[in-house]
Amino acid sequence: MEKLAINYHLTRNCNMGCKYCFATFEEATKTNLSLVEKKLIIKKSSKYFDKMTFVGGEPLLDKDLVELIKYSKELGMTTMLVSNGSMITDNFLESLKDHLDWVSLSIDSLIEENNNFIGRKCNCFKANRESYLKLIENIKKYNYRFKINTVVSRANISENIGSFINEAMPERWKIFQVLKIEDVNEKEFEKFKVENSEFQNFIKKNITSELSNIAVAEDNDLMECSYYMINPEGKMFDNYNGKMSFSDSLLNVDVLDALDQLNISKDKFYARGGLYNWKKEF
Ligand code: SF4
Repeated sequence: MEKLAINYHLTRNCNMGCKYCFATFEEATKTNLSLVEKKLIIKKSSKYFDKMTFVGGEPLLDKDLVELIKYSKELGMTTMLVSNGSMITDNFLESLKDHLDWVSLSIDSLIEENNNFIGRKCNCFKANRESYLKLIENIKKYNYRFKINTVVSRANISENIGSFINEAMPERWKIFQVLKIEDVNEKEFEKFKVENSEFQNFIKKNITSELSNIAVAEDNDLMECSYYMINPEGKMFDNYNGKMSFSDSLLNVDVLDALDQLNISKDKFYARGGLYNWKKEF
């Protein structure tokens, strides 16, 4: 198997409460894995995956995050973090500059009221254009490769986020159509749902020619079964047919056995542009 990319949802804890969040993992029963167990999951993953992305919840709430990023780098993997940004400090960035390759920020709106409506809010961070730009300046100061993820929903469909992206200039801008997952985020989903045509209009409006080489758009179809993902219990999972299914934990089985229990398509991984030049030379 060619080495691809995997997302490890280290924790379901988050200091924000986005109503369309799919990474709440309420069904998980054993989420307090030890450092040794988490390392074993990473070690097994490194046999088949070349890039390890740490996600949550908010991954900075996991006390082992720094250690696990360093461990993944020691194993030769490209390392990436996906964060809501609220807890990223200078100290954190300084301590990981030789171990973490990419920092990705989840930025769905530049308008605080819209972020409040989404639930993208906490006491320690004002989710607005000014705060995000300041944070991005800091991230770039440490020479990280930098990416932005944006979920398009009813809350931000009218915003011109492209103009902000022009200013922030990430190396990669991922734009997702908000996705419904059964028994996870369906309760309030109707408030946020956007049709395919609306998503395509957002893409047309926001991806200007300057952004065409960094922007990657994923509608609901492209997002289905195209990601390799691990939950906080160490189980791999898919999102086939709008529902999450889980494998046995990687604490007990190998990656290939876990994949046999799931519907994840390598072709769809390629089709969504999952493979790109992610290596960083130090
Ligand atoms: S910030 Fe991210 S992990 Fe936290 S609730 Fe929002 S979408 Fe979920």
